[in-house]
Amino acid sequence: MKRRAVMAALVVAVGALVAAGARHAPAGQPTGTPPAENRRPILISVDDLPVAGGGLHTDPEDRAQVTRGLLAALAKHDIRAEGLVIQKSVAGPADEALLALWLAGGDQLGNHSYAHLNYTATPAAAYVADIEKGLAGLDAFLAPRGRHARFFRFPMLREGDTLDKLLAARAALRAAGVRNLPVTIDNQDWSFEAPFVEASRAGDAARQRAVIDDYLAALRFAVRHHEESGDALLGRTSPQILLLHANAVGAAAWDELFGWLAATGHRFATADEVLADPVFSEPHQFVARYGASLWDRLEHAREESRVRAALPRLLDGQSAAWNRGDLDVFCSVYADDALFLSPSGSVRGRQAILDRYRTRYPDRAAMGTLRLEVEEIRPVWGMEVTPAGDAVPGRIHGATVAARWTLRYTDRPEASGRTLLVFRRDGDTWLILQDASM
Ligand SMILES: [Zn+2]
Repeated sequence: MKRRAVMAALVVAVGALVAAGARHAPAGQPTGTPPAENRRPILISVDDLPVAGGGLHTDPEDRAQVTRGLLAALAKHDIRAEGLVIQKSVAGPADEALLALWLAGGDQLGNHSYAHLNYTATPAAAYVADIEKGLAGLDAFLAPRGRHARFFRFPMLREGDTLDKLLAARAALRAAGVRNLPVTIDNQDWSFEAPFVEASRAGDAARQRAVIDDYLAALRFAVRHHEESGDALLGRTSPQILLLHANAVGAAAWDELFGWLAATGHRFATADEVLADPVFSEPHQFVARYGASLWDRLEHAREESRVRAALPRLLDGQSAAWNRGDLDVFCSVYADDALFLSPSGSVRGRQAILDRYRTRYPDRAAMGTLRLEVEEIRPVWGMEVTPAGDAVPGRIHGATVAARWTLRYTDRPEASGRTLLVFRRDGDTWLILQDASM
């Protein structure tokens, strides 16, 4: 509830801005609408078909009504959506008839797994088997209709919490000939379904309307936020993939949502049109316990690359300082309170570390020539949760570096060993907090 309250405050603020803009550009006939080719392409993707929140919608007629509402909004705005099917939720011929309605409306159907497993809590082999089971079921439905599934959406956008799992799922998708359909506009639209259904079953139209307003405000906020992120990442107008769920609040709200999107410079596009943008082929290996927007994954991957480049540069600078006999500069990367550990004991503080080096290496002859070879860099970060409830990668606040050091001399055998450095980041400055050298 607390999270929702914070988000409500945010969406009220954004809603006010949007409302102010809407007065100048009423939905339907916006003034100054850019030509189609200048509009931002957006794919509407719809998860958890046939009907999301299955426990709330067990009556076949209720499921049909939700589906008809969703499809009416899509048709009114001439949208070709990508629907993602949970095969386990397809409960017999009545649900297959609903899926057929999506196809009849010009929408595509992709695989959203068989049982909607949480990859973070599932071993790779079992997860891949679930993808394949879902795909086999969906293709059995599509094949007689001359189609096949082309896309897969990871449940909860969780693509792997280890590199091995990430690569295993990608290999399985490649082998099955389906492409991961990422999300750029992540949001919590599903969370409005239970309050909406509760209000409608209580016959409380005012509460229903209030939930719809919150739903729309939250989505406007998510669209604005992720479009700004995408534009900043790409340095141009970014194409978008909006995540929605096939639910009753959507059926009640999509007409307004799509009207707003059309009035704010969007062009509804197909999966093929949107995925043709090269950004969707940008490689990344984003490993995390929770799912996130593609823009957050790519931004984080780029940031990790910058960190992985910056730290070896810093160590090269340290080696250069050592090799010109400049121990002051060599020790300047230690934090004021850094801890230096070695087999002979520990020393605390930059000045004490500098004094130790000066005692042990009194002149250039004693210092020799230093070489540092990085063995591994691990950026330190974790997933965080925004006030709106979305998982996002946290900033990289530190890193650990394992390295091999070698001192070469002209008059005696070289010495070598290993070191583990713990760095803290302060903007673009990196400081060693702990140094364990052996
Ligand atoms: Zn889902």
